[in-house]
Amino acid sequence: MTVTFADLQLHPSLVAATKELGYVRPTAIQGDAIPPALQGRDLLACAATGSGKTAAFMLPILNRLIDRPRGKTRALVIAPTRELAAQILEDMKDLGTHTPVSGAAIFGGVGMGPQEHALRRGTDVIVACPGRLLDHLQSGNYTDFSALEVLVLDEADRMLDMGFLPDIRRILKYVPKVRQTLFFSATMPPPIATLARELLNNPATIALERQSRPASGITQALYPVSQELKSALLATLLERGDMKEALVFTRTKHRANRLAEFLAKRGISADRIHGNRSQTQRTAALSNFKDGKIRVLVATDIAARGIDVEELGHVVNFDVPLVPADYIHRIGRTGRAEAVGDAFTFVAKDEEGDIGAIEKVLGKRLPRVTVADFDYHAKPEAKLEVPLAERIAAIRAKKAEDRARSQAKSSRGGSPAGRPSGGGQGQSQGQGGRGRGPGGGRGPGGGGRPSGGGRPAGGGGGRRGGGGGYGGGGGQSSGR
Ligand code: AMP
Repeated sequence: MTVTFADLQLHPSLVAATKELGYVRPTAIQGDAIPPALQGRDLLACAATGSGKTAAFMLPILNRLIDRPRGKTRALVIAPTRELAAQILEDMKDLGTHTPVSGAAIFGGVGMGPQEHALRRGTDVIVACPGRLLDHLQSGNYTDFSALEVLVLDEADRMLDMGFLPDIRRILKYVPKVRQTLFFSATMPPPIATLARELLNNPATIALERQSRPASGITQALYPVSQELKSALLATLLERGDMKEALVFTRTKHRANRLAEFLAKRGISADRIHGNRSQTQRTAALSNFKDGKIRVLVATDIAARGIDVEELGHVVNFDVPLVPADYIHRIGRTGRAEAVGDAFTFVAKDEEGDIGAIEKVLGKRLPRVTVADFDYHAKPEAKLEVPLAERIAAIRAKKAEDRARSQAKSSRGGSPAGRPSGGGQGQSQGQGGRGRGPGGGRGPGGGGRPSGGGRPAGGGGGRRGGGGGYGGGGGQSSGR
């Protein structure tokens, strides 16, 4: 049985780095994956986030490249999100600190220039998101993968979810056919299994039976609470010191914004990270959270992939994930590699079915917790979002009111004959933030965000105040 990194026959400079990083012994995936990867075999590994999978592929890559001549890209790691790519690069630099192996990350939201330079230079290890990498590959002939020896696909199932499979197939055309391929995916939906079959040559298959178990050491609990009181419950747990800090997942970007705003109003420092935030904003929020400058980081799933916060005590599922695999991924943020953490999930009545599916995958029923002293019947201070049905009902009611008013006016003979009822020009929609243009179209920016962005009809063309206070839309897509 493997006991230490030295037993794995890794280069002494890599063993030294693992020691400095405080890794006492290889995790299960590392123990299973490193020996066949060092032999040059392909890998098919089902590993959840938090299992130590990054070092499981990065140590063999570094080991292989230490003594190679420099100046040609020899390893390419493809990952779904910017955060994950940045994290992998960071791990690569930590593990390779005593080696001459160079690395660079390629992802969207930042300038192409430095990335082009890294590709031109033949940086040893490139960690890339598919969209931006393809931009480079297609926009010039400076990317040369002809000397590539190792290709890694990380979180392949997530790349499928994000629609990156066509991009990946395009990228593969630029990569030599003879190579070592290391394939990581938490789950194996059919398109991923097909891709794996196409790419892998007699792979060592690893940890399949462990794929849907959360990292050990995680204490999981459910907090039944109504939708309206979820924010108040979270604030209470933070105020009472039940949690010092927390990574909180919401279902939508809008909910992430509103929740961060709610917490800030209650005096709890919070920021959020999601696909509509610029790369600079995302990086700043993450580093403020890592440095303890803010207590709460609110995130949507996609943006949160790859967030690795050391010693993170709490993950809160503010909304129940729709897919059990997402639950495992989310709570994999805490209790990483044998640390201990808590994963709290807030469950409203309409989410109980989803929890049932998750418990089925986990193979156990999770404990339900009631918070003493929390008023479960309190009137909510503010709604996190106005449900769509209510918004539509409000718009209809307003229209009916306008119609009735104009009818009353015309029956009183108050308006000149022939004028259309309803006032036409100059009518503004009042409540709700999104104004209607003269043609009835959407305000600039569209996008379905309820706050800001509307143009009051008949006005001077100026934008109405944002209201929400979290502008910056940016419209960036994650992962590119
Ligand atoms: P991931 O690679 O995303 O699955 O997560 C790895 C996390 O566990 C990172 O925080 C690593 O620094 C940490 N880690 C990786 N390998 C080990 C190890 N052998 N012992 C302790 N922590 C580790």
